[in-house]
Parts: sequence; C-alpha cells; structure tokens
Amino acid sequence: MDYSELVAVYEELGSTRSNLEKTRILSELFSSCGQSLSTVVRFSMGRVFSAWKDEDIGISSKLMVKALKKSTGASESRITEAWKSEGDLGEAAQKLLEGKTQQTFAVKKLTVEKVAENLSEMAFFEGSGSQGRKIDSISELLSLASPSEAKYVVRTVLGKMRLGVGEGTVRDAITDSFFPSIEAFEEGKDYSGDEKLLVDERLEEKIGYNSVISFFSLDSLEKGETYVKGFDKIISTEEGCKKVKNILKRFVQHGYDVTNDFGEVATTARDEGIEGLKQLEMTIFRPINAMLAKKVDSIEEGFEEVGKPAAIDFKYDGMRAQVHKKGGEVKIFTRRLDDVTNQFPEVAEKIVDLIECDECILDCEIVAYDPDDGSMVPFQKLSKRIKRKYGIDKMSEEIPVELRPFDLLNREGSMLKKSYSERFNSLEEIVSEEKGVLRLVDRAVTSDVSEVSGMQQRSLAEGQEGIMMKNLDAVYKPGSRVGYMVKLKPVMETLDLVIIGAEWSEGRRSGWLGSLVLGCSDGEGDYLEVGRLATGLTDEQLEEITERLKPLIVEEDGRDVVVKPEVVVEAEFEEVQKSPTYSSGYALRFPRLKTFRDDKEDADSIEKVERLYKSQR
Ligand code: ATP
Repeated sequence: MDYSELVAVYEELGSTRSNLEKTRILSELFSSCGQSLSTVVRFSMGRVFSAWKDEDIGISSKLMVKALKKSTGASESRITEAWKSEGDLGEAAQKLLEGKTQQTFAVKKLTVEKVAENLSEMAFFEGSGSQGRKIDSISELLSLASPSEAKYVVRTVLGKMRLGVGEGTVRDAITDSFFPSIEAFEEGKDYSGDEKLLVDERLEEKIGYNSVISFFSLDSLEKGETYVKGFDKIISTEEGCKKVKNILKRFVQHGYDVTNDFGEVATTARDEGIEGLKQLEMTIFRPINAMLAKKVDSIEEGFEEVGKPAAIDFKYDGMRAQVHKKGGEVKIFTRRLDDVTNQFPEVAEKIVDLIECDECILDCEIVAYDPDDGSMVPFQKLSKRIKRKYGIDKMSEEIPVELRPFDLLNREGSMLKKSYSERFNSLEEIVSEEKGVLRLVDRAVTSDVSEVSGMQQRSLAEGQEGIMMKNLDAVYKPGSRVGYMVKLKPVMETLDLVIIGAEWSEGRRSGWLGSLVLGCSDGEGDYLEVGRLATGLTDEQLEEITERLKPLIVEEDGRDVVVKPEVVVEAEFEEVQKSPTYSSGYALRFPRLKTFRDDKEDADSIEKVERLYKSQR
C-alpha cells in the first residue's frame, strides 16, 4: 500500500474531532488495505509494534533532529527553530522538506511496508554505532518521503501521532469494517432484491421467506453460535439493531482484551469472523492490560461504587506486576507491559514451586521490605530495582521483595469473565504462602464501615498507601477504570509553589506555555525545583498561564523557558518523593494545579516539603 494513501487518511482524521466521523474514516481504511491491515491498524494508533511486545524504536527528539539534519541538509539550529515555531517536529519536517527544491524528491514511492520494515529493524540495532544506523534508517525513509509523508514518518517514530484515535474508535471501526451492516426493518419495504440477509427471527413472519437467506436469535448471536461471515446485511428491529451492534463490538473487544493487539484482532475479524474472535485466547508470556481503580474519598462512597459486602485489601506502596507462569518458567511484567523478569530473578525462581498451576497469570503488587527488620520500604526505593541492569544479586539482598497476588487472570484458560469471588477463591487454591517471598494480600470481606476503617488505619500504620475496595461479582476488565475496584487514600496537604520555568507546548496547544517547573523557597531568596506540572491543565488554564508567564520570560533554549519567579500556584499531588533530578532533592508525584495564589508572593519553604515527605512515612 502506498504510504501516501495512509497519509491522506491521517490528514482526514486529524481534521475532525468527531469520534463517529473518525470511526467512519478508519473503517473505510481498514476495509481497503488488504495485506497491510495489521500494520495500518497499529500505525493509526501510533504504534509500530503491538502493545505487548517489549520492543522500542528508541529514538528521542534529539536524535530525530540529527536524522532531519542528515536528510534535509538544514542546520540543527534551523531545525530547532522550525520545531519551536511549528510546535511539533513532524510539522517542522514537513516545512523543511517543502523548502527543498522539487526535483530532489524521490522517484520511488514510499510504501507502508517500507516504513514498517525500517521502523521495526531499528528496535534491533544495538551497541556501538546503533544510533548512526537508526539515523540512516530514518533518513532513508525521509529521502523517499514527500513533505506530508515526512510529517507522519517523524510522528510515528516519536510515537506522537496526534490523531485522537482511541481504542474505542479502533474497536468500533473494526466492527463496522468486517461485520455486515446493520439495518432496522422497515415495514412495507421490499427485501426480495437483497441477497445474503441475516434476519432477526422476531421478524420471520413480516419479512417473507423467499428473499431471506437465514435467521438468527439475539441469544445465539450473543453466544457466538450464529454464523455471520458471508452475509451482507443484518436486519433487526429498531432496538434490536443496537443490541446486535453491541454484541458484535463485544467480540472485537474480547479479542483485544486477550491479545492486546488490534492488528491481530482486525485480521482475525476479517478472515475468520466471530468464530475466530471467539477463539482468540490469552497467551502466557504475552501481558494484557491491567484493570485500573477509580478513586473514592470515603468508605461510604467506596461501598456505593462496589456494593456490599465488598473485599477490602491493603493498598500496598509497591509496583503492579503481572506474573505469568508456564511449567517451570515465570515472567514478570510491569503495568506498562515491560518485561522485568531480569530485574527480579529471585522472585521468578522462588515462586515457581509456590504456585501450583501449570499455566496461569496472576495480578500482583511487588512490595519491598527492609532485610533487617522486615518493615515495608516505599516504592521509591523499590523503583531502583526496576531500572537496574547490573549488580542485580546485590540489589536483591539490599532491597528484598515479596510478591502479593490479589487476582487471577488465567488458570489453564482465561478467568476474565468469571466473578472476582471465583477468581480469588481459585487464586487461594493455587498459592502456597511463604513470608518474605509470596503471600496473598491482606484482605477481608465485609459490609461493616468500622471494620474497613480499622483496616485503613492498620494499612497506613504499616506505611502502606490505604485500601482498595472491590466488587465481588465483577468480571475483570483489562485496561479499564470501570469502578469494579476503587482506591481510598488519605488526602495530602497542598503546597504553594512558584513557577520558575516552562516549556512551549506542541501540537494543538503550540503557542501556549505548559509543563511548568515548580519551585519552593530555599529561605534565602532563591528557589529550588520540586518537579514539573504537566498534566490536567485545561485550555483556559494554559491560556492564562501563557498570558501571565510570557512577560516574565528571561531565557529561552529550544522549547524551554526560564521565567521570573512571580506566579504562585497551589499544587495538589499524590506524594513527595526523593529525587536526584530536581535541585530541591525532592519531586512531587502527579502534581496538579489547584488554584493561582494571587494573594501570595512567596512559595512554601523546602522545610515544608521535607516535613511532608517525612509525614508520609
Ligand atoms: P496510584 O498512584 O494510586 O497507585 P495508579 O494510577 O498508579 O494509582 P490505580 O489503578 O489508580 O493506579 O490504583 C491501583 C494501583 O494500586 C494498582 O495499579 C496497583 O499497582 C496498586 N495496588 C496496591 N495494592 C493493591 C491491591 N491490593 N489491589 C489492587 N491494586 C493494588
């Protein structure tokens, strides 16, 4: 497939905000892209590899500037200038190529396959000279690309497509592309000319037999027992149409939940229909997305969300881990689906005999503890192990960890559709506990608010984060924050901090300053960085921030700016962490802007930051 065809669709997608319209555009694309289907599906989601693959192209914006220098001949400063003014390196690439004379453009056409080939191979370049080879690989693509193609090659490489295509949109587009269209029955309409109709059995008498190929019931469709492939249209009642559509979507969603790869799901839907999707199964050693938790502010609110009675767990201050086991082999994946087995070899080794199941997937928290007294150690210390490549044995002695499983996703087959009670009972059956190695989570099943409150106190007293409340009847929804489990954590004090720097935003928000560098006072008239506030800002807030900060800019370097420390904001955050990155030695975890503190001229002191840090322990 020509890459230009895909680029035309990208442009169309980028020009609309309507999800319905995006679904329509994508479904047309998916229906027409033949052999390239799985690549095209991944590309439109801004992916080169399927989500579960532990592969990364490893190109930073800096390296991309070098690749652009090589392919366009422009100097780095000109590229940086274009990047700043366009707000996005992809747009900058387009502008720079437009500046080149027309004759130098390639005669050979860039294809989707060529882009996929070059990008895939980059993940395997290793060792000395690998950066140079990556630059060569991108430059080759850019030399074959037209200006608008170059824009999307750059964005794909950087993983920033900016098309606003979410998982739901892709799921719906696959459903529309590869299943028959769904139409409501119209009284008096002549269906005799239509072939290959699949008709709701409730319409049997109305539609007349001669024109109809086959009938179905919603029940058998739901069970996947209706053969849908090969039909042109599904005819149902007005409200039946919605149900049919939802059932078909559910098959596609199931495919994605267990494979984590819409490329594979699309090909299966196209080639094998419902039959094929139904048979897609979770594969051991291929991680799936973790179910996420909603936040509640009180035990009562928690019960409202998950019902009574509910399971109450300690919420550990550890790391989410998905543990896959097959025979004697164990692999551990993070919530971002990275394989960290090499970072925790002792866990993988010790738990093999403690989990009695040939094939299974456990949802767990890895919790670190002090080797001397067994007391818990916060995530921040544990996180050192996650990045470690060398000296792992020493690390595992210094920061030993215990695995705390809380859910079972697979036991010789998927458990996702079973209720949480069933999953947990099954988990209890296969886990043999050993303190310091593997223990089920601290947990109680109750409807009693005071019992929950007692657990909350104990969890906090142990240095954990709070509690989780879980719906006993719920299925497991990968990747969703559906409220089948909720988290309850104590509310943190806020900090008043001064903005000392910022970054020019990219894409739709270019022209606005964002990613604010926050500072606390050092008590001597200077400010110490405590982190960046980058998420959760609305357009209005960004506009206001830009208006306030622009006159205060004292220095600019690429997209980074330094501003006079005059704007004070009240920041909320989840936690204060130690950090070597910022000059205060601390970093706020997930800071959010609460308000502008126009009533204040100065920021809170480093002493207050330290006090908050200590009060968490
Ligand atoms: P947080 O920063 O509060 O952990 P988050 O965005 O990282 O939030 P959420 O899904 O919102 O993640 O909160 C649930 C997280 O809490 C899980 O991802 C898991 O890592 C952790 N956790 C700790 N103990 C448990 C438990 N008993 N059951 C489920 N999750 C737990």
